[in-house]
Amino acid sequence: MHKGYDRSIADYQEAIKWIPGGVNSPVRAFKSVEMNPIFIDQGIGAHVIDVDGNTYIDYIGSWGPLILGHAHPNVVDGIKKIVEKGTSFGAPTEIETEMARLVTGRMPSVDIVRMVNSGTEATMSALRLARAYTGRDKILKFEGSYHGHSDSLLIKAGSGVATLGLPDSPGVPDNTAQHTLTVPYNDLESVQLAFSKFGTEIAAVILEPVAGNMGVVPPEPGFLEGLREITTQFKSLLIFDEVMTGFRVDYYSAQGRYGITPDLTTMGKVIGGGLPVGAYGGKREIMEQMAPNGPVYQAGTLSGNPLAMTAGYLTLTEMTREAYNDLEEKGAYLEAGLRKNALELGIPHHINRVGSMVCLFFTEEKVTSYQQASQADKGRFAKYFRNLLAQGIFIPPSQFEGMFISTAHQKEDLDRTLEANRRALKNL
Ligand code: PMP
Repeated sequence: MHKGYDRSIADYQEAIKWIPGGVNSPVRAFKSVEMNPIFIDQGIGAHVIDVDGNTYIDYIGSWGPLILGHAHPNVVDGIKKIVEKGTSFGAPTEIETEMARLVTGRMPSVDIVRMVNSGTEATMSALRLARAYTGRDKILKFEGSYHGHSDSLLIKAGSGVATLGLPDSPGVPDNTAQHTLTVPYNDLESVQLAFSKFGTEIAAVILEPVAGNMGVVPPEPGFLEGLREITTQFKSLLIFDEVMTGFRVDYYSAQGRYGITPDLTTMGKVIGGGLPVGAYGGKREIMEQMAPNGPVYQAGTLSGNPLAMTAGYLTLTEMTREAYNDLEEKGAYLEAGLRKNALELGIPHHINRVGSMVCLFFTEEKVTSYQQASQADKGRFAKYFRNLLAQGIFIPPSQFEGMFISTAHQKEDLDRTLEANRRALKNL
């Protein structure tokens, strides 16, 4: 029995007095699902407990990082041990090199890597590097893709920007925005057209190799290959933003799964094991342009701090090949169950999944772009979300986000989720 939301509502009333919108990141406010946000007290494995004492099966996983579930014992023990020795030094530590060795070993295209504190910093820095390296200003991104909130990338962005219907944020200067070209995801023809007009001015194409900020949208066959060809032809850099997909969709990330070699890669989420981390890396020749070896500047007071490196290192070492097989199986099981329920109940739907990233769209059309994702019935989604929550299932509060499965999710969790899904679909 759900115990209601009284304390969460009171917490929210207090929070909005002191924090803009009551939250430190917009999608947490539950605006598009038209209810107050729940406040979380604790996470255990695949579950979270809110301040009213309700337990939920969690498919947010802190929006991607918690691939092992909450409070994994090895990660927690590791952090406890390291925190005793101090939290940050502003001088190199050995764990930073160990982490860099581990990450480069599992990111096929990455020779060397620089740690930062968020995905936003990673993509912002990678763009600066790409512009410096090529001596060009323009970049090309895809509609509905989210690459963090730096100025150049807040153009037709996905995630919370799409959820709140704010496609181009005020505060981004026009002369910055004019350098960002946007075309539909999975649309090679539009990319070709953009290159035929601006090819010699485009520093880089940046993309999520599996889009995860317009719901989940996999690359169509040939799309990534085509981008690799076009960028090579025009001496533009190809940047894979693997902040979400890195160490999530495959042991060797999306670039391993699809066998494409980008020039630069950005990372975050899973590599921080739930602590604030981002990273960017790639070909040695390009990365050596960064200070202190090269002229391109980027720095960070807390970058590579030992707590975050430890949490990330322990998370990645837990994520063996078998762990990815396990996630693939769980993902397939959930996908099949969701589809069966929607079909049997006659609910118009389309399900996209890559590994442990799953998205149920309330539309009948195949979803290969933001344009199609935005056709989904958002009112229906909001009702569905609230019904699931009341049944103890916590999915991202937006049609433009995917569910994340962790290694902590058990078959029993998936079965309970499917039962709740069936009831929620019936009640639509
Ligand atoms: N890139 C992608 C693909 C992301 O999904 C996100 C966050 N959802 C970011 C960049 C930004 O990362 P952060 O929120 O850590 O700044």
